[in-house]
Amino acid sequence: MKPEQWAMVPPPPGACPECNTEHDPDDAHNVVSMHYHLGFKGRHGRWPTWEDAMAHCSPERQNAIRTALKALGLPNDPREARRERCKLTARAKALRL
Ligand SMILES: [Zn+2]
Repeated sequence: MKPEQWAMVPPPPGACPECNTEHDPDDAHNVVSMHYHLGFKGRHGRWPTWEDAMAHCSPERQNAIRTALKALGLPNDPREARRERCKLTARAKALRL
C-alpha cells in the first residue's frame, strides 16, 4: 500500500456494509459513522447528509425520519452532525431512529 492510500476495516458480520452499524435495512445509515462518511466521500466526492443516509428507505420511513429530525432540530450538514455526535446519538436512540 502506498503512503497516501488507506483502507477501511470491513464491517463485522451483521453490520451494514455502508455504515458499519447494525440496523434494519429500511432504517437510515448511521450518518455520524466515520465508516459511512469516508466511504460516501470516496464514492461521491462530498460528505453525506441525512437525505443521503435515508435515500434507500421507504417514502414513509423517510418522512418519519425527516419529522423526527425537524422536531429535534438536528442539522443536515454532516460536519456539524459529527461535532454533535454524542448528542445526536443519544437523541436518535431516544427516538429509536
Ligand atoms: Zn447502514
